[in-house]
Amino acid sequence: MQINESQNLPEIKGFIKNTLIEWDGFLSSEVFLPNCNFRCPFCHSYKLVQSPGEIPSLKWEEVLSYITGKNQWVDGLVICGGEPLMDKNIVSCLRMLKAKGVKVKIDTNGYFPETLKKILEEKLVAYAAMDVKAPLNTEDYGAAAGVKNIDISRIKDSIGIIMEFLPDYEFRTTACPVFVNENNIRDISSAIRGAKKYSIQQFNPENCLSAELRKVKPYSKEYMENMRKTAGEYVRNCIVKGV
Ligand code: SF4
Repeated sequence: MQINESQNLPEIKGFIKNTLIEWDGFLSSEVFLPNCNFRCPFCHSYKLVQSPGEIPSLKWEEVLSYITGKNQWVDGLVICGGEPLMDKNIVSCLRMLKAKGVKVKIDTNGYFPETLKKILEEKLVAYAAMDVKAPLNTEDYGAAAGVKNIDISRIKDSIGIIMEFLPDYEFRTTACPVFVNENNIRDISSAIRGAKKYSIQQFNPENCLSAELRKVKPYSKEYMENMRKTAGEYVRNCIVKGV
């Protein structure tokens, strides 16, 4: 698969050839881009976030040969990270993928509404999954994202952009007991009221960024189900994952 050599593309730090769990109804490939502006204590991709230079980079040619070559039965490509939308080459990369007929799902932390709007206006992605990590106030959100001085208006803008421009999307919250309880889920669901899909993801303490959090017990299945029911009062479809 030829790529224009003058084209700047994001670095790739990981490639999964086939997955059925990252994009509902799709057999996808998945690439992992380095770097993130957040430091969520429950992050499992923290090597990509904290020390991406230690991970060898892969070639886009390898990815494209797989998904557009003899494996054309792959339905789409999931681009996750890290935070893909902070990469200065992401827009040109998505344009290149669209030109090659590759359907793309993007995972984002929602902190780059300008880039998000650009790629949605140009119809460069078919699906977006955006984290809404905590209630939309500086203190709660900053704690869950592991950063100070967070600008909540950027998260709010991204929620609005996704709901306005994309027919298919989901919002996601990791139900880490230190940062999110059922009342918080009510606040979050209210902030995404009417959303097509909302996933509440079970917290996995194993090997997360914060050593302290590795000792925290995840919520019970029953509590997760209660949160799902609460969120269901506000969004069109709410599911729990990982229980
Ligand atoms: S936004 Fe995602 S990749 Fe970035 S630190 Fe948080 S969980 Fe990790």
